[in-house]
Amino acid sequence: MSTERNVDVAIIGAGTAGLSAISEVRKVTEHVVLINGGPTGTTCARVGCMPSKVLIQVASDFYRRHVLTSEGILGSEGLHIDWTKVLAHVRSLRDHFVRGVLKTMEELGDRYIQGYAYFREPTVLDTDGQRIRAKRIIIATGSSPTVPQTWQAPADRILTTDTLFEQEHLPSSMAVIGLGAIGVEMGQALARLGLHITGFDQSDRVAGLTDPQVNGYMRTVLERTFPLYTGAAVEVRDEGEILSVHCDKKTVYVDKLLTSLGRRPQVAQLGLENLGLPLDERGLPPYDPTTLQVGHLPVFIAGDANGDRPILHETADEGHIAGFNSVQEQPHCFQRRTRLNIVFSEPQIAVVGNSFAELQHQDVAIGTVRFETQGRATIMAERSGILRLYSDTQTSQLRGAELAAPRGEHLAHLLAWAIQQRLTVFEMLQMPFYHPVIEEGLRTALRDVARQVHEQRSGFELALCDSGAVGNMG
Ligand SMILES: Cc1cc2nc3c(=O)[nH]c(=O)nc-3n(C[C@H](O)[C@H](O)[C@H](O)COP(=O)(O)OP(=O)(O)OC[C@H]3O[C@@H](n4cnc5c(N)ncnc54)[C@H](O)[C@@H]3O)c2cc1C
Repeated sequence: MSTERNVDVAIIGAGTAGLSAISEVRKVTEHVVLINGGPTGTTCARVGCMPSKVLIQVASDFYRRHVLTSEGILGSEGLHIDWTKVLAHVRSLRDHFVRGVLKTMEELGDRYIQGYAYFREPTVLDTDGQRIRAKRIIIATGSSPTVPQTWQAPADRILTTDTLFEQEHLPSSMAVIGLGAIGVEMGQALARLGLHITGFDQSDRVAGLTDPQVNGYMRTVLERTFPLYTGAAVEVRDEGEILSVHCDKKTVYVDKLLTSLGRRPQVAQLGLENLGLPLDERGLPPYDPTTLQVGHLPVFIAGDANGDRPILHETADEGHIAGFNSVQEQPHCFQRRTRLNIVFSEPQIAVVGNSFAELQHQDVAIGTVRFETQGRATIMAERSGILRLYSDTQTSQLRGAELAAPRGEHLAHLLAWAIQQRLTVFEMLQMPFYHPVIEEGLRTALRDVARQVHEQRSGFELALCDSGAVGNMG
């Protein structure tokens, strides 16, 4: 090694987790380095949350043409897609978000090292011709898309979200393989933009839903824009000019694939075997999810790299936890937030708090509402959706929810906040609900579940004043 450097903390990976970590570390010490291999700008801004949401917004705006004529807005049949411009627009907003990230990195100066890091020992890293000796190390190396090696298809016909937004054009037909959050979001958006999309998954569940009623409902909605073939493993073959995708007894011919089979922690080339700990089948060492400490070493693992909660706000939380703990005498344990997973389909999907699968053998009451005839949904011409609430039957406390609802992102936040505050369904029913809003659907579901819990209250949702009966009626 040509140079050696001693620091208090070394952070590997300049994604959301790594940048959150360094902001905590710098409150205590400037003897820190942030090492990043590969492109800068974070997965979220470069190839993840942000470009995907831009594409979804374009698809949603274009799809809206189907209701314009009935609203008296004429001429929508002339609207069409210019793929080159759509993708340029996605990249232009993507670049805007990436610039924001790069700005926060610029002031790191020589605390930033471009290069891949490799563990020699638990406190020694090699990178870019330098040896770094650190009192503490944070692993925040993110994740990468999974692409099966057995698929017989030329590499340029297999897209992932790492390459999708870089395309200049898209072909007329594509298979989306894997119908988790990313597959559902991208499959529906591309189909709404006019591509012939076919969705495949070996599981019958879509977008992480576990409630059979919400899952069945959402599958039906998705199938209005593109066919789904699920429940069996997928085989892919190169047929010359085209690819065949085979699932159970169905074969579909497509120009390209978008694989969205989940993401794997990016730890294979990190030298984690030199930590002296057993590694699991994903190559991950044991760690404490409340402190993020790896074994009993002065090493922490945060964000997608640990594979536990691969969504942005959790990744940022983990970066802060790891950064904070890396400059303490002893690691502290942190309480995590209520689960909040949102999928930006239409209607929007969410799993909040405990899922149906986690609660199905427990004593819970289920409240349901559907949005086909709901006032606000009707006005917005977004007449589809179902919300299922799970409440503890004994305590009436809200435990979780699964939903596919118009503007579901907002309902999901209200529900997550209520669950984290341990509110009962009766306390939630005391809250104001404006009219006409989507949240009135939530009130219907709360009323439904309130009728099923053990504690029963009078028909009045308003709380009585502490003074009780007052005044005199003569
Ligand atoms: C298409 C898509 C859509 C998404 N949409 C959403 C959404 O809507 N909402 C949401 O909450 N989440 C979403 N996510 C998830 C979210 O983007 C991730 O959870 C988050 O970006 C992960 O951040 P991170 O810091 O863990 O990893 P990253 O941002 O990936 O950072 C890791 C960094 O480490 C570097 N690195 C790797 N190995 C090494 C090494 N050996 N040495 C040095 N550097 C290394 C990498 O190059 C990378 O720069 C989406 C993800 C995708 C792919």
